[in-house]
Amino acid sequence: MMTGHGPVDTPQFMPVGTQATVKALSPGDLHAAGAQMLLGNTYHLSLRPTAERIARLGGLHRFMGWEGPILTDSGGFQVFSLADLRQVDEDGVTFTSHLDGSTHRLTPERAMEIQALLGADVAMVLDQLVDPGLPGVEVEAAMERTHRWAERCLAARGRPDQAVFGIVQGGVDPELRKRSVAAVGALPFDGIAIGGLSVGESKAQMAATLAVVVEALGADPRPRYLMGVGAPPDFFTAVERGIDLFDCVLPTRVARTGQVWTDAGRLNLRNAAFLDDPGPIDPACACEACRLHSRAYIAHLFRARELLAYRLATLHNVTWTLELMRRLRASLADGTFASLRDTVAAAFARGR
Ligand SMILES: [Zn+2]
Repeated sequence: MMTGHGPVDTPQFMPVGTQATVKALSPGDLHAAGAQMLLGNTYHLSLRPTAERIARLGGLHRFMGWEGPILTDSGGFQVFSLADLRQVDEDGVTFTSHLDGSTHRLTPERAMEIQALLGADVAMVLDQLVDPGLPGVEVEAAMERTHRWAERCLAARGRPDQAVFGIVQGGVDPELRKRSVAAVGALPFDGIAIGGLSVGESKAQMAATLAVVVEALGADPRPRYLMGVGAPPDFFTAVERGIDLFDCVLPTRVARTGQVWTDAGRLNLRNAAFLDDPGPIDPACACEACRLHSRAYIAHLFRARELLAYRLATLHNVTWTLELMRRLRASLADGTFASLRDTVAAAFARGR
């Protein structure tokens, strides 16, 4: 996939840089980890430091010191997560800032304006996300509004150098998903995202919904982005169905709690057993944490609440996840996809 800041190998995982930083990592760390493309959060950045300030300072790439590709979300996911703090109408959504209680308005046009100010390589449309467990008429109404907002986002696109991805919604109802693919797929987007999954539905529902969407997309050649999915076994379920892009806070969030991902599955470095373990987190990993440090040392850092613990564990999880994507790409080429899938699934079914 080509972007305004260079090519991206697919399938690819985007580490999440919510507040113009992937928590605990510098851009140098991200390069060392093999990151190609990052995700930035419109909601957080538009409230603080504001999109206008980032634009005055040269755009998001310069602001955060990352010259690789960046995708920004539209802010919809965070705004809809605010539950009691927002009100939706046909024109957009009014919400209360989690920072200072101030009132803000997000419309499809404003979501595109913010992402143009940030200078993202890929902008996402504003969609209306709903709990897939709501009554069908509510899921359908949100989906249809998402389609109307998709057209408004395209009409408001402000930068020729910025790709815009549409978002398919429709909960876990196959008929709604097919209608959403037909509506979003008919518009001249540069890529198609699948939203509204990994929000509490079962793994079986996620796989079934993905299968419906992918079948409905058929031979559509545009990149396909599965939003918010990042558990290692899920990558395989999705890549088998032709997904190209992923993002998720999981590898970075769990790292800060002491959970590291390895070829042997999840390890919790807070467990006392690791205090005497002289080996690296993962002997096969080439990250700084695994090259220079023992499990015992990093387990000690977590117990002492030393800041380096968060950086080393995050660096490892991001490196391991991106290396898994590289192995996954290689496995597609050399026919070992199924064995890699089964190995990862078995490793992540256990853990300690
Ligand atoms: Zn490592």
